[in-house]
Amino acid sequence: MEKVIEIKHLNKSFGSHEVLRDVNFSVNKGEVVCLIGSSGSGKSTLLRCINLLETPSGGEIIYKGENILDDQHDIKKYRTHLGMVFQQFNLFNNHNVLKNCTVGQQKVLKRSKEEAAANALKYLKTVGMDQYVNAKPRQLSGGQKQRVAIARALAMDPEVMLFDEPTSALDPEMVGEVLKVMRNLADGGHTMLIVTHEMEFAREVSDRVVFMDKGVIVEEGSPEQVLVNPKHERTKEFLKRTI
Ligand code: ADP
Ligand code: MG
Repeated sequence: MEKVIEIKHLNKSFGSHEVLRDVNFSVNKGEVVCLIGSSGSGKSTLLRCINLLETPSGGEIIYKGENILDDQHDIKKYRTHLGMVFQQFNLFNNHNVLKNCTVGQQKVLKRSKEEAAANALKYLKTVGMDQYVNAKPRQLSGGQKQRVAIARALAMDPEVMLFDEPTSALDPEMVGEVLKVMRNLADGGHTMLIVTHEMEFAREVSDRVVFMDKGVIVEEGSPEQVLVNPKHERTKEFLKRTI
């Protein structure tokens, strides 16, 4: 199996606070990995280290066999391989839906306006938002905004999609529409690393579940292994609290 991202001995501290400790795991091509754990366990920091929004304190992040923490590595190029979806959408509020999905393609990937628009439209259709190309983010519901944010990330044709609690900021009635889009992406063979508190979703879509606690990966395995028959006490405790 081809490893797309491999994390080796990753550490991250903020001052004297060790937030990630010797984190090791990988994401294979086409795999859907869900990262679960209590608030404050370091899940967001791990995603932010993977896309270099944070600088790791130690360890390696290997993308398709190359350590991207090497000084020579082209970080800008590496980042184009990752699509990121945040809890708070982070759309450009002054741009309409279409432009939200084309600016990155034009600026970063140097695509023509026409090519970028065609690609954006393709992914807006995927998420069911192609009817809203001219709408501004303020005219959309939370679920619609998040679907646009997913289309925007997909339009960059990334190798891996990273999701950080994409449904946590949504009203309950909008969670389903976003999870449905993500389920379709998972079925479509996208490589995805998803931080989520939606245990039912994690059980259904994941190839692998990784449980983190206090900056350490405690347990990982199939959804059955981790969510139904967890080995570790800390995993059992966490699941008891969430379900
Ligand atoms: P999670 O996403 O699992 O809730 P986070 O990765 O956001 O956890 O946070 C893990 C720990 O790191 C928390 O104790 C948090 O306060 C701390 N932390 C995160 N970002 C920073 C930062 N920029 N500066 C200092 N501490 C941080
Ligand atoms: Mg978080």
